[in-house]
Amino acid sequence: MMEKQLVDNYNTIINNIKTAPKKNGDVIFLAATKTQDAKTINEAIDLGLKYIGENRVQEFLSKNDQINPAAHRHFIGHLQTNKVKDIVGKVELIHSVDSYKLAAEIDRQSKKLGIKTDILLEVNIGAEESKSGFSPSEIQENIVKISSLSSVRIMGLMCIPPICEQKEENRKYFSKMYNIFIDIKSKKIDNSNMVYLSMGMSDDYDVAISEGANIVRIGTALFGKRNYNIL
Ligand SMILES: *Cc1c(COP(=O)(O)O)cnc(C)c1O
Repeated sequence: MMEKQLVDNYNTIINNIKTAPKKNGDVIFLAATKTQDAKTINEAIDLGLKYIGENRVQEFLSKNDQINPAAHRHFIGHLQTNKVKDIVGKVELIHSVDSYKLAAEIDRQSKKLGIKTDILLEVNIGAEESKSGFSPSEIQENIVKISSLSSVRIMGLMCIPPICEQKEENRKYFSKMYNIFIDIKSKKIDNSNMVYLSMGMSDDYDVAISEGANIVRIGTALFGKRNYNIL
């Protein structure tokens, strides 16, 4: 992408986030960096971008050393248990914890390093067969179970709602997520802090923010259409 386009996109997103009606405090703009090379990511960081998120462990590891160390690194993709050891200690927040087994492995690997790892639990808010995540009905009991693990810290929830034609179609899912978030927060479960609600992507982040998102994960609207051929 031309650098000027990146500057324009970055400024548009910052402005949209600034002007969106908010419900859940300040909003973190996290760039979803899959398929983008380190140079492009660093250009965005030079513009002021502070948070980046990768989807795949291998891609994260291959780029990580070349990316400006000032950026906060998150992991946002589906994480396999056997890859956990490769990223624990290297990212500040794992958004996509979708099973007790995965949380337990993050806990185990964190203990080995003598650290605590912050995680979000993924909710399959659209009840889609194809998506991972806890169902809204099982999230509460899993939070209680996962909160007993001493080397992970639950920091909130994330979701990827169903793909839709019109961004307003997702409002109901975002609103449902916020209600779950508030409900769990009110229960003050030990070792769990309901701080972050990670939802909203390029096509619907303004709607997500107005329904309570405080981390938005944006790829295409910042970097342009992804070219998977480069991988
Ligand atoms: C790619 C990705 C995004 C960003 O998607 P865009 O539609 O390009 O903004 C957000 N979240 C996750 C988990 C992703 O994999």
